[in-house]
Amino acid sequence: QNVLLKVENLQKHFPVKGGIFGNKTINQVKAVEGVSFEVKQGETFGIVGESGCGKSTTGRTILRLLEPTSGNIYFQGVNIAEVNKTEMRKLRKDIQIVFQDPFSSLNPRMRVKDIIEEPLINFDVKDRSEREKRVHEIAEQVGLTVDQLSRFPHEFSGGQRQRIGLARALITKPKLIIADEPVSALDVSIQSQVLNLMKDLQKEFGLTYIFISHDLSVVKHLCDRIGVMYLGKMVEVAEKNQMYDEPLHPYSKALLSAHPSSHPLKKKNRIILKGDVPSPSNPPSGCTFHPRCSSCMDICKTEAPSLQTVRDQHDVSCHLYTEVNKDQEYLYE
Ligand code: SF4
Ligand code: MG
Repeated sequence: QNVLLKVENLQKHFPVKGGIFGNKTINQVKAVEGVSFEVKQGETFGIVGESGCGKSTTGRTILRLLEPTSGNIYFQGVNIAEVNKTEMRKLRKDIQIVFQDPFSSLNPRMRVKDIIEEPLINFDVKDRSEREKRVHEIAEQVGLTVDQLSRFPHEFSGGQRQRIGLARALITKPKLIIADEPVSALDVSIQSQVLNLMKDLQKEFGLTYIFISHDLSVVKHLCDRIGVMYLGKMVEVAEKNQMYDEPLHPYSKALLSAHPSSHPLKKKNRIILKGDVPSPSNPPSGCTFHPRCSSCMDICKTEAPSLQTVRDQHDVSCHLYTEVNKDQEYLYE
């Protein structure tokens, strides 16, 4: 499988005005702090984590809706982090985003057909009948009727509005869609309809998805591989079933312990984490998870672990799995 997107050591820091923690003065929040991952052609890559972990910021930075502080974002070999505005505009045709709240992202004064058509105008499709044809095609594919196209967004339910959002995102025939909590605002009964639609559209159009969510059941439904984020860092990346059945990082273990295993023999005990997520403006030293980790060792308080491949297609950022510890385990056997 070809790699469509490769994110390398991405950082996004936001300036803040004079926050003070103890005797430290803080002038930036490290929302994304050295995130690396790859997304393969045709797959759905899930990014999960609690709110404030940097998952949405990562998604927006890939699209340059937020400017990256540093790092590389290769899309089909082009470094998105370095392109100019004109080049970025062209790339936006290939990478689209779908937001959590479709209502706030749809202009209330525009008719649905104009909302869906707008990207085509932005991308210079001059022929009006061609645009209209494309709008009708895509509307049909997302399950909107011709009659609905002349209505306004407020006349639709949340699920239907997300269909409109998908139609608008798909009309430029993108290769990659970044979906940021696309069903989180919807009733559970509607969620699966929209998720199934996204699956069908993926097949139909050969789409690649980055699916951002805090909801593990939603992620499980759709994703092929999953990356877990904690305090601006990617702490574990694995194929979906590996992640759900045998998570390695202590944070992933806790996060996923609330979710039943798909494997009947691999029973999980619910792990309740101590403490709250620390502020990203003043993250703990060493491994930023260490104050909450029941496996914390001395090295964890001073040295940050890096993401390393420990099994086939399974990366984890934790000192429990570094070479030093592997040797120790071996000695004790
Ligand atoms: Fe826990 Fe140490 Fe691993 Fe961090 S590096 S998750 S503190 S064991
Ligand atoms: Mg978010």
